[in-house]
Amino acid sequence: MKNFNPADNIQDLQYFGEFGGVNPSISDSSTYTFLSAKTMFDTFEGNAEGCYLYSRHSSPSNLYLGQALAAMEGTETANVTASGMGAITSTLLQLCKAGDHIVSSRTIYGGTYAFMKNFLPGLGITTTFTDTTKLHAVEAAITPNTKVLFCETVSNPLLEIADIAGLAKIAKKHNIKLVVDNTFSPLSVAPAKLGADVVIHSLTKFINGSSDTVGGVTCGTQSFIDDLRNVNNGAAMLLGPTMDSLRSASIMKNLRTLHIRMKQHSYNALYLAERFENDGLKTVYPGLESHPGHELYKSMINHEYGYGGMMTIDVGSIDKANELMELMQHRNLGYLAVSLGFYKTLFSAPGTSTSSEIPLDEQQQMGLTDGLIRFSIGLDNDIIRTYKMMKNCMQELGILQQVAVSVL
Ligand SMILES: *Cc1c(COP(=O)(O)O)cnc(C)c1O
Repeated sequence: MKNFNPADNIQDLQYFGEFGGVNPSISDSSTYTFLSAKTMFDTFEGNAEGCYLYSRHSSPSNLYLGQALAAMEGTETANVTASGMGAITSTLLQLCKAGDHIVSSRTIYGGTYAFMKNFLPGLGITTTFTDTTKLHAVEAAITPNTKVLFCETVSNPLLEIADIAGLAKIAKKHNIKLVVDNTFSPLSVAPAKLGADVVIHSLTKFINGSSDTVGGVTCGTQSFIDDLRNVNNGAAMLLGPTMDSLRSASIMKNLRTLHIRMKQHSYNALYLAERFENDGLKTVYPGLESHPGHELYKSMINHEYGYGGMMTIDVGSIDKANELMELMQHRNLGYLAVSLGFYKTLFSAPGTSTSSEIPLDEQQQMGLTDGLIRFSIGLDNDIIRTYKMMKNCMQELGILQQVAVSVL
């Protein structure tokens, strides 16, 4: 990924407003007039470049945001959606029809898992969940009906690392599409540069970064995105997971500072992970040498943006996890909340929240223990102070040995 700097690619894009504004004007319309009836017909047929028809199909504001995210991922273009699930579901339904099969990582976002496991079989689409960190297991799961190989770059919540280049090779060999959810690692990893066909984000998380909206995007080739938006058979057009223009304009402004935020999330998370591990806590963070995917991840990332803001610790039991989270929230160290990418640290116990869609026995099988706490580390200015205060909480609850540590 030398010479590919996603943040520079975003910054090089300039969009001006109608009156020379430094931000683009927001398209506050659901429908658009045509000077000639012929142009309207051509636009329906998809043959009128630069003409807008109806905002469920596309709008100027949504195209601006889509272009910026495509520049970030190094794909030809992108389609923004009203949520990450809107991007995932429309993409999978575009690529798979009744009788088709998906091979997916078994450690993925709970909503994606539930969609594949519970919803798609009703449409005749089945999924085999495998350990995608084992390439031979992935290849063994592929059948003649397989159309999609699905994984997350950094998996939720176990933070396993996908060997995207290795998976892309398998996908090419079997002529199937590699779809990668890159929500945990924007800027750090550009999956399309490693061979992924389609890259998806929940914009709700780091990219928007202010926990004020949900949003999603599918990045891919022009022809795939045209398919998604096709008026006759496009899943994004016909299912209608359309983002509102006011929202996409707002997300676009937050995207402008993503590179600065990612550096701080990564810096803070590495600082805490190194110290927690040193204190004897079971800590999982891709930036730690003890992480099984560390060397692989190191070879995949754009180092400027680091190993990301997500980490987990295991405090032994759900009761201890809950006590610790409540105490940390009480001390204003973060919020007991799902989601990620906020300025404030967010923590939750995935087994009873974001991954609760996954049955208990399967949770255990994949190593999702009930004392696990997932952290989305915030933009704390003084991470040394945060560390000391978190450590105090753990000592008070007997999670760490009591040693005299003072905050000041
Ligand atoms: C949150 C999340 C999603 C779903 O996105 P929404 O915006 O909530 O619909 C998908 N994948 C991952 C990895 C996520 O964290």
